[in-house]
Amino acid sequence: MTPFKFEIVHQSTKSRARVGRIHTPHGIIDTPNFVAVGTNGTLKALDNEMVSSIGLQLMFCNTYHLLLQPGPEVIEKGGGIHRFINRNMPIITDSGGFQVFSLAYGGVADELKSKGMKKHGGSVLKITDDGVHFRSYRDGQLIKLTPESSIAAQKAMGADIIIPFDELPPYHIGADALKRSLDRTHAWEKRSLEAHLKCPNNQAMYGVIHGGVDDTLREKSCEFLTNLPFDGFAIGGSMGKTKEEMVTMLSNLLPKLPVEAPNHLLGIADLSSLEQCVPLGIDTFDSSYPTKAARHGTLLTQKEGNLKITSGKHQGAFIPIEEGCTCYTCQNYTRAYIHHLFKAKELTAMTLASIHNLHFMVELMNRYRSEIIKNCL
Ligand SMILES: [Zn+2]
Repeated sequence: MTPFKFEIVHQSTKSRARVGRIHTPHGIIDTPNFVAVGTNGTLKALDNEMVSSIGLQLMFCNTYHLLLQPGPEVIEKGGGIHRFINRNMPIITDSGGFQVFSLAYGGVADELKSKGMKKHGGSVLKITDDGVHFRSYRDGQLIKLTPESSIAAQKAMGADIIIPFDELPPYHIGADALKRSLDRTHAWEKRSLEAHLKCPNNQAMYGVIHGGVDDTLREKSCEFLTNLPFDGFAIGGSMGKTKEEMVTMLSNLLPKLPVEAPNHLLGIADLSSLEQCVPLGIDTFDSSYPTKAARHGTLLTQKEGNLKITSGKHQGAFIPIEEGCTCYTCQNYTRAYIHHLFKAKELTAMTLASIHNLHFMVELMNRYRSEIIKNCL
């Protein structure tokens, strides 16, 4: 089985952007790359054969959701996450921390909050240095998540890349509280790494750099975590109120990360963030943006930008979403038909729109990589 390895293919002479290759037991991830989010082991409206055929090299699954349903023991019995969900390509799972704390503090995962917590009354009951106690939003069951139990769940599932348990501090937090949260996160990440190293299982673990938009704390986090034997680094926590704040924070942070390790920006991959962050040297980005946009009828195109397919002007447009697009949708269907499917509220509309948007992301990242190779970016 191929062990985890990161290889830099080309370092741009124009920026910090680099083209690389992450080798994993389930294949290669070319970087920089977009990571599709399949929360429950599926990208909404698409089966995993289709996801693989689109060429999405890395898929992000959420431990929090899979822990509650179907449970890691079912996935393990089913032969591990790759076999269970029928995906023979790389998978990354998170620790569950992000969702647990989003539910506790709100604001970050609005979708989750409105669909989960309010409806089912799920809530965080207690946070201690050991971990967090919460009630499942599905059935009210009391669950304790600790660094060790998060890693045990991620071991049972067997993704190629796993994430240590961390605390997501509330967005509006004082400087002292942020500092305390960072210390707790570091302790939790260290415990997670120790649990992981007892049984590496051919998995790689990325440490998660925290510290909000405080440069000193980000630096402290880098120093602490890069001294531990993580295989790569993810950037998490608050990215600031505006895109400028995020870009400033990342511009200061990236030079402090080891060049030879891959890095990942958690939860951000909208088109303008990609444009601004690829030159900073980010290797992978995950986001549900392209699929969410697709389900709401927003199609990504190179020539026309974001195209609203439900607009009346597409009613009689017997042309593909984008001329020259090689995706399954554009090869087989017209704007007029997809417009009709959205109007008729047919589920197929979401499938066809998601295929196109994800293909767009694959092609976009291909273009970024060739620009970097040519030192144009
Ligand atoms: Zn297309």
